[in-house]
Amino acid sequence: MTKQVAVIGAGTMGNGIAHTFAQFDYNVRLIDISQEALDRGIATIGKNLDRMVAKEKISEAEKKQTLDNITAHTSLEAGVKGADLVVEAATENLDLKLKIFKELDSLCSEETILASNTSSISITQIAAVTARPEKVIGMHFMNPVPIMKLVEVIKGYSTSDETYKTVASLSEKLNKVPVEVNDYPGFVANRILMPMINEAIETLYNGVAGVQEIDTVMKLGMAHPMGPLQLADFIGLDVCLSILNVMYDGFKNPKYAPCPLLVNMVMADKLGVKSGEGFYDYSESRKAEQVAAMFK
Ligand code: NAD
Repeated sequence: MTKQVAVIGAGTMGNGIAHTFAQFDYNVRLIDISQEALDRGIATIGKNLDRMVAKEKISEAEKKQTLDNITAHTSLEAGVKGADLVVEAATENLDLKLKIFKELDSLCSEETILASNTSSISITQIAAVTARPEKVIGMHFMNPVPIMKLVEVIKGYSTSDETYKTVASLSEKLNKVPVEVNDYPGFVANRILMPMINEAIETLYNGVAGVQEIDTVMKLGMAHPMGPLQLADFIGLDVCLSILNVMYDGFKNPKYAPCPLLVNMVMADKLGVKSGEGFYDYSESRKAEQVAAMFK
């Protein structure tokens, strides 16, 4: 039975994944190359737990237990020792992920399942650098992890049914809904979301309507909680561009070609909330925090 979980990367997703496992009583080792990232990650978990206590979703004792269930490590070797499951949520970079999985394969016991939270890198390609491709799988959580119900569970070409079943049932234990998905570029979530965002940008680029108008149509007309341009700002325009490029390269289909306006905005360093400006201006009004708060 899975009890020991190692989470690699203490950033946006890693701290949310660590929080969620710890809240459901798994022992979690949170690993990052940066001590500052670990400190920030643990502080974020504390703040998010405080918010849950304030909303009476958990008790003060559950908050304390959740934090006690997490230890922080800068050494990969020490962090993954004895882990039943490793969830990698390090920076989205192919070479980095391949290096991490090679190391994990040599450090972890043969039984350990190795999962990646990647948004766009092939699970099959990651699995191929290990000697256990049947035990490598995608566990694609959504941001913010403690709140969002979905886990896209991605089966690589060689992932076994047993590994899938273990990971799907673990996701249920976290009170999430696993969805089985095969390993093709963009999986399901981004394959549908990113072309929609790209089309919204194309609609703006073609002068059909303005930013507010496009977002209002999708919010009020389709009951989306956030318009596609605002959502793109929140995700990061660089991240959207990179996922579209992965799909464009992977399918060799022009329907995934990123809109030139998106390309230009990324080149101009207008990346959305994180850079202070994207389709909306976040520089003065602290809108960035307001947008982020909508997801807490
Ligand atoms: P992030 O930049 O917030 O955090 C990444 C962390 O990884 C950083 O703290 C960094 O120090 C750490 N790191 C880098 N190299 C490392 C190494 N060798 N060992 C350990 N830690 C290392 O990134 P994020 O947004 O949390 O994304 C992480 C993963 O999750 C990516 O694969 C991304 O595609 C995926 N993802 C992101 C989102 C999202 O909304 N942000 C959603 C779903 C999936």
